[in-house]
Amino acid sequence: MDQEMSYGSDYKFIPATSIESGHGIEVLPDLYCYTVQIVNFCLVGNPETNDFVLVDAGMPKSADAIISVTEERFGANSRPKAIVLTHGHFDHVGGLIELIEHWKVPVYAHELELPFLTGKMSYPEPDPTVEGGMVAKMSRFFPNEPIFLGNNIHPLPSDGTVPHMPDFKWIHTPGHAPGHISLFREKDRALIAGDAFVTVKQEYLYKVFTQEQEISGPPRYLTTDWDAAKESVMKLEALKPTVAITGHGVPMSGERLATSLKKLVNEFDQIAVPDYGKYVN
Ligand SMILES: [Zn+2]
Ligand SMILES: [Zn+2]
Repeated sequence: MDQEMSYGSDYKFIPATSIESGHGIEVLPDLYCYTVQIVNFCLVGNPETNDFVLVDAGMPKSADAIISVTEERFGANSRPKAIVLTHGHFDHVGGLIELIEHWKVPVYAHELELPFLTGKMSYPEPDPTVEGGMVAKMSRFFPNEPIFLGNNIHPLPSDGTVPHMPDFKWIHTPGHAPGHISLFREKDRALIAGDAFVTVKQEYLYKVFTQEQEISGPPRYLTTDWDAAKESVMKLEALKPTVAITGHGVPMSGERLATSLKKLVNEFDQIAVPDYGKYVN
């Protein structure tokens, strides 16, 4: 018997938005990035085919928006072959249960994220005291309890392949979350980074609202292992991506991405790591 899926008891709509909310960008012909409030999800696949995957599942209560964006791009009643999660934070699984119920597709995540997706373990509490602005302070209201997906969630294959994304490999990029992954395609060096690094200062409400493009480490209020987070950014920089879609902020590409990533690696302690907060030192 299938078990009933459920969100954590602290699951709720979060009233925060940005000027990009409701907009999509075709980063490459088969790579589409769409913003729901303050987070991005991706549709990976050529819109002339019916072969595509959804990466991440938006903010709480965003399933209807994700379905309509998907149908707009791939046609009425289209459904992805699978949903792949970069990690299980509330803003990346917000519409997930309704999407699974509607599409009846499998979901994949790194095995170290599974406790947070099967009701076994809560994420550490967000840190509203961390160095940062209003979004950091609001983070005390962010859900951190696990969702329960029952047998709808599967571990990613251990060989680095990604189901239904034949050209992509998953790369373990922990720090922001233990089982955080990024997705990389060698042939054109396209990167879906998740929250391993982002292109907006996500802790500041004004910067989130305007989506001013600026390289940044992972969102501070939910990042608990800064040493691992730094290693993950180094790993991604070494891949020399030509374009990056991040979990938050506008996609970045070309020379701007190369120099920004180099700077983030070289100045990680100044740019990324907060001066104070309960998960530093
Ligand atoms: Zn996150
Ligand atoms: Zn996020």
